[in-house]
Formats: sequence, C-alpha cells, structure tokens
Amino acid sequence: MTSVSGGPPHPGPWQTAKVTGIHQETPTAKTFTLALPQPCSFWAGQHFVVRLTAPDGYRAQRSYSIASPPSDSAELDLTVEVLQGGEVSGFLNEAVEVGDVLDVRGPIGGDFAWDLRPALGVGGGSGIVPLMSMLRHARTLGRPDLFRLVVSVRRPEELYYSAEVPGVDTSVVFTRAVPDGHVRPPGRLMARDLTTALDGDREVYVCGSTAFCDAATELVAAAGVPTDRIRVERFGFSG
Ligand SMILES: Cc1cc2nc3c(=O)[nH]c(=O)nc-3n(C[C@H](O)[C@H](O)[C@H](O)COP(=O)(O)OP(=O)(O)OC[C@H]3O[C@@H](n4cnc5c(N)ncnc54)[C@H](O)[C@@H]3O)c2cc1C
Repeated sequence: MTSVSGGPPHPGPWQTAKVTGIHQETPTAKTFTLALPQPCSFWAGQHFVVRLTAPDGYRAQRSYSIASPPSDSAELDLTVEVLQGGEVSGFLNEAVEVGDVLDVRGPIGGDFAWDLRPALGVGGGSGIVPLMSMLRHARTLGRPDLFRLVVSVRRPEELYYSAEVPGVDTSVVFTRAVPDGHVRPPGRLMARDLTTALDGDREVYVCGSTAFCDAATELVAAAGVPTDRIRVERFGFSG
C-alpha cells in the first residue's frame, strides 16, 4: 500500500510485463492487466510508458495512466482508447493478446500523483483512467469521503468502468445522450455539476483532452478553487 510520505515513487528501469487479462471497457477502449516481474509501488495518478518495437527496430512509446489502485501485487491495469490512425493505441487494441509481453517503464508523474488529501477528480472520456485509480484507492481504504469523481462522457456506452463508477462519491455528466431515468438533460459540463462535489476543502485533479482540461479548469477556478490547487493532466488533442 502506498504512503503519503516521501513523495511519489520514481520510475525504475524498463521491464517486460506479461499481459494477463484484456477487458473490452467500451466499444473503443480496452483495459490491459499487466503482470510485472516484481511488485511495483506507485501512487494513484501516476502513469507508465509502453514501448513497442517493430521487427525492423523502429520504436514508438506512449504514456498510459494506471487505472488500478496502489497495491502490493505485481499486477496493474492500463486502459487504452483506440484513436483513429493511432500508432500505439491501435496496435494495443487490435493486435495484443493475453500472454503477450510488453516493454514498460514507470511509475512516472509527480504533480498528478494523489497524496491522499481530500480531492475532487474531474475527467473527460479516457481522462477518467488515473482518477479511477484514485477512486478505487479511496474506496479500498474505506474512505470514500477522500475522493469525489465527476466524469463527463458523450453517451452511456462510452463510460469506462460503468459497473463500478456509480456511487455516492461520483456523478456522471452525459453530453449527448443520457441513460433511461437520468434526471440531468444532456449537455456540457457546467459549474453546477461541480458544486456538490466541491464540498469542503479539496485539491482538484482534472484529466482528459486538452479542450476538456481547459474548459473544466476554467469552471473549477470560477467555483473559487485557487489555481495552485488545480492539477491538470492533458492526454493530448481535442479528440
Ligand atoms: C501522462 C499521459 C497519460 C495518458 N494516459 C492515457 C490513458 O490512460 N489512456 C489513453 O487512452 N491515453 C492516454 N494518454 C494518451 C496516449 O499517451 C497517446 O497519446 C494516445 O494513445 C495516442 O497515441 P497513438 O500512438 O495511438 O496515436 P498517434 O499515432 O500518436 O496519433 C494518431 C492520431 O491521433 C491524434 N492524437 C494523438 N494523441 C491523441 C489524444 N490523446 N487524443 C486525441 N487524439 C490524439 C493525432 O493527432 C493523430 O491524428 C496519455 C497521455 C499522457 C501524456
């Protein structure tokens, strides 16, 4: 189990991880369970780099956040959304099978690592991944009060970890289509979606596409959270 003292762990050397499980998370994303040669300490919010090497020696590497909570096990989960034309996400989603091995290095990331102070996570689409590690960690500790999650997705089938997310500590904003019985009409994330979750004094972790992060950060700052208490992890383009 991770501790809040001493700062988040630094990355170790490259290692060879075995894929021990693959779960279709949404129509466009898969969760890969990787077994590392040795147990690895990490803080929720950190990520690993996955490196692919082609037969001709060409290499490509990309960052993927850890979705599972810190634990003493040598296994961790990465969830990868396939992007159209995406070199690494495409290979991982279409070619990798259980039993394959992958070169990985981690854990990486200091500023976005969660130190267990009360926090709110605001995620858009795949930006939920590192926040899910935080949510799972808080729940595993029996301290659901430590972490709140607000996640924005376009439609119900695009919600990652859909069986696990619902709870008193979470809320889901659907921007295009809502599930039956959902009270909030579809629409973009608004200030009032964050008000209840921003109870008390919380650090805020924002994650998703660049466009999502910019919009969500503006809302959080407008809600009165000082900018030095807002941490942002941008996954890349607007998608
Ligand atoms: C710290 C960090 C953590 C990340 N964690 C995750 C994670 O948990 N899950 C996950 O799925 N991704 C995550 N990403 C994004 C990931 O690293 C890759 O950028 C993504 O998988 C695309 O790589 P690719 O090789 O498939 O695409 P590329 O071959 O690099 O690009 C293919 C096409 O997609 C566009 N594109 C590239 N990146 C993105 C993007 N992020 N969003 C939208 N369009 C893009 C490019 O412009 C291009 O048109 C993370 C990124 C960072 C920096």
